[in-house]
Amino acid sequence: MHEYSVAQALIDRAAHEARARGALRVLGLTVQVGQLSGVEPDLLLSAYEICRVGTVCQDAALAVGRVDAQWSCPRCAATIAPGDVLRCPRCAAPACLARGGELLLERIEIEVADG
Ligand SMILES: [Zn+2]
Repeated sequence: MHEYSVAQALIDRAAHEARARGALRVLGLTVQVGQLSGVEPDLLLSAYEICRVGTVCQDAALAVGRVDAQWSCPRCAATIAPGDVLRCPRCAAPACLARGGELLLERIEIEVADG
């Protein structure tokens, strides 16, 4: 399943950040999942529950936020309502996906040793 590789990548990324900062463990992760990212938040959460066992993220809670798709015009930056015709009402340029296609690791909480 696609979500397992995504969960694994998130854990790898968090482990890398934790190592780089000399952290003892990761306490929490926050990701933003775009509506059109192809990732199902519920599936990502259950994949994460399995993948985190035995990793630096073992005790880290995963919070998943959802980002609605939003389209805009690449020419005049007008916001375009999602619909059948993804085209700018002002200048007729084809719409570009402004947000909602991303999967973003927004926040990592880590525990750092004193001193
Ligand atoms: Zn336009």
